[in-house]
Amino acid sequence: MKNSKRWLSSALVLSTVAGIAFSTMESGVTPQVAEASSLKIQPVESVSLVQLAVPNTKDAMKKIEELGIDLTHRMHVHNGQIEVDAVVTPTEVAMLKLYGINVKETLITENQLNQRATERRMAVKQEQKLTAVEETVTILRANHFTNQSDTFLYVEAKSTSGAVSSTILTARWTENGEEKTATLQQIQDAGEYLYHSFMLPVSAIPKDITIESSLGGSAVSTVTEWLGEGKPDKPGKHYVKNFVDHYMDPTETNARIENLVKEYPELAEIVEMPNKTNGYRRQAQATLGTLQNTAVVVTSREWGHEGGNAISLELKKASAAGAPLSVGTSGNKIIVTLATDAAGNAKSTAKEVVDLLNAEVSDLVSATTYRGNAGNGIVEPATSNLSDNLRAPATVSREPFTVKAIRIGKHRDGSKPGVLGYSQEHAREWVTPLVSVETAERLLRNYSHDKDTKKLVDNLDIFIIPSMNPDGGHYSFYDFNSQRKNMTNHCSPSQSDNGYRNSWGVDLNRNHDVGSAFDGYVGASTTNCLSGTYAGPSEHSEPESRNLVWLTDENPNIKFAMNIHSYGGYFMWSPGAYTPERETLPRPSAGEEAYYWQASDHILKEIKKHRGTVILPSRTGPIPDVLYSAAGNSADHLWYEKGIYAWNFEVGADLWNKETKRWELVGFQPPFEEGHEEAMEFSNGLLGLIDVAYQYSKDKKAPKSSVTPNGGRHEDKVEVSFKTSEPATIYYTLDGSRPTFNSQKLALSGTREGPETLTFEKTTTLNWFSVDASKNVENQYEPGNNKKYNTKTFFIK
Ligand SMILES: [Zn+2]
Repeated sequence: MKNSKRWLSSALVLSTVAGIAFSTMESGVTPQVAEASSLKIQPVESVSLVQLAVPNTKDAMKKIEELGIDLTHRMHVHNGQIEVDAVVTPTEVAMLKLYGINVKETLITENQLNQRATERRMAVKQEQKLTAVEETVTILRANHFTNQSDTFLYVEAKSTSGAVSSTILTARWTENGEEKTATLQQIQDAGEYLYHSFMLPVSAIPKDITIESSLGGSAVSTVTEWLGEGKPDKPGKHYVKNFVDHYMDPTETNARIENLVKEYPELAEIVEMPNKTNGYRRQAQATLGTLQNTAVVVTSREWGHEGGNAISLELKKASAAGAPLSVGTSGNKIIVTLATDAAGNAKSTAKEVVDLLNAEVSDLVSATTYRGNAGNGIVEPATSNLSDNLRAPATVSREPFTVKAIRIGKHRDGSKPGVLGYSQEHAREWVTPLVSVETAERLLRNYSHDKDTKKLVDNLDIFIIPSMNPDGGHYSFYDFNSQRKNMTNHCSPSQSDNGYRNSWGVDLNRNHDVGSAFDGYVGASTTNCLSGTYAGPSEHSEPESRNLVWLTDENPNIKFAMNIHSYGGYFMWSPGAYTPERETLPRPSAGEEAYYWQASDHILKEIKKHRGTVILPSRTGPIPDVLYSAAGNSADHLWYEKGIYAWNFEVGADLWNKETKRWELVGFQPPFEEGHEEAMEFSNGLLGLIDVAYQYSKDKKAPKSSVTPNGGRHEDKVEVSFKTSEPATIYYTLDGSRPTFNSQKLALSGTREGPETLTFEKTTTLNWFSVDASKNVENQYEPGNNKKYNTKTFFIK
């Protein structure tokens, strides 16, 4: 309470000054309020920061001075009054009133001020706590990589005191004999400290790197290559690719996969999704009038293409004076005759016209005032043809659209492991359907002569959906490039005039049921139908998202999925969402996470093969660690509800400009030359995932695991770590019971860190087994049945 003294003295001054002040008080003001309080010393009062409105007179300003009011520097003249911010007590406020000086606005109360101080104290305490304990610096990764334009050094390091911004981490390394340093940047998301990192181009690759903290901690790590073995693309001699030569709308991509099935009926079939979209169609609309209170919004009953577009509306003034408001139709033309007053001036309001249209011609149109306006303005004469504003050629159907998958495999009966690639949940991501089409073409057209391709098609069941969002896709191609969502309007009539037509729709990658905005997760809106990430009226409200659920319900053999988006060059997996407290959906077990990383390494190397594109380590990992929270995304549904290893691509990695030394973004719809390259490299990536699925199908080898230390006698306590021969989940018990698939799983120790260690402080028997991604169980143990699990006892004195 450092400041209390000052407040006290200010109160004292006030009472004294107030005592003198009465004698000089201007007439007409009765000093009742101040009288009693002036007799005794006031207790310490709370203060507020307020804005005072002071009459712009010498006297008033003099009074303020006399009263010793604590003025701030923020002062200006407004409407002949001086507005000035001041720190005052309630007594001071009462005194000021007597001089015609009023409190205009309370800016900050003492409570709020105290809160700031408390917050600050907490922060200082936290800082002391974090910096007082002995700091540990851990290097999470130290990588070099070379992409198409340069060689880079990338480092992630974590300090136990890293959450405090005064903890500075510095990297030191040697480049061509020259000592180099760089300050690492603190990476935070939603207020949580993740790690520090930096990335810089280097002229030579250092052998190792040292990270030093301003608090004294340090760590050294060797520098390894990220996506090392990626060699230039040297596919089989007769391997064919390059099947996409322009951006394709969803009508074209459907035709492409249908033609492929006609050509390869033995190897492929079309899967029609049961939930048709709402369709590339809208009602015809017009907004007549120029002012909000005079405007009349009309919407046809029928879809635009089914008659709505033929309707027109004329608002004309009656020719005679004193005429009533009336409406009539002539074919598809609606004519409203606006009422006139005795002088012959139009007098009908927008509200009156709207009510009349709804009462008399509701078989043709519905009408509203503009965006909830009362509509009290006098309507101006106007004529308009209603339009659905859809500009796609007639070759694009206006009917509900059937979303289609191409299913590729020699055995499409559910007996082979399934892989799913799906693209264009977001309409404007034009490159993504090309990735899908290119991949389907490569699989089929190389089948007969490329043994690697044959192996994939013979042993897997591959589902590829070029466009999850065909309505939005068509809208993006022909009407509004930046369309992200589907076309379905869930807004109320007051947000449904045609001026909002580019903002309606549901974000299909936010409409799912795991970690959704409806459950309070971050990254989507449930209330704003115009938001870019509108989650819809409810989970799975949209046919497009129900199609994904249906496909994976129908085909439980699907074990791998890729949700293909653009842009930015990200490669991510679950968890995909967190709460406002940044509590993420459950992290995968340590073994599952290791498998995600191992598979990612293969997939990203395949991407790199095409033109050297390196998906950055900083953009690879669980979604909340590298991007943001995406409540209700589809990949989380696949992982948590179906146990499918589900990744998200963001195709279109930034390109490094060697001259400006900057990364440049490619955007949603880059020039086709770039879009083509992205399609080629990410088709490599999708085929890389298909390879991963193939390896999975062939993996019959059980994992092996061990612990360090290997049981035995220990002082005090013991920290036990696990090792597995391949990515595998450890299930364990500590109470001597037989471990099962319901037992505790070994977890990750933290964001972007390795498996946790177990600490035993008393004698403990550890029973465990490991199981790999293909469900091979270590040592032929049948969880819960035989006794072939591992067991070690740790004796503590
Ligand atoms: Zn997207």
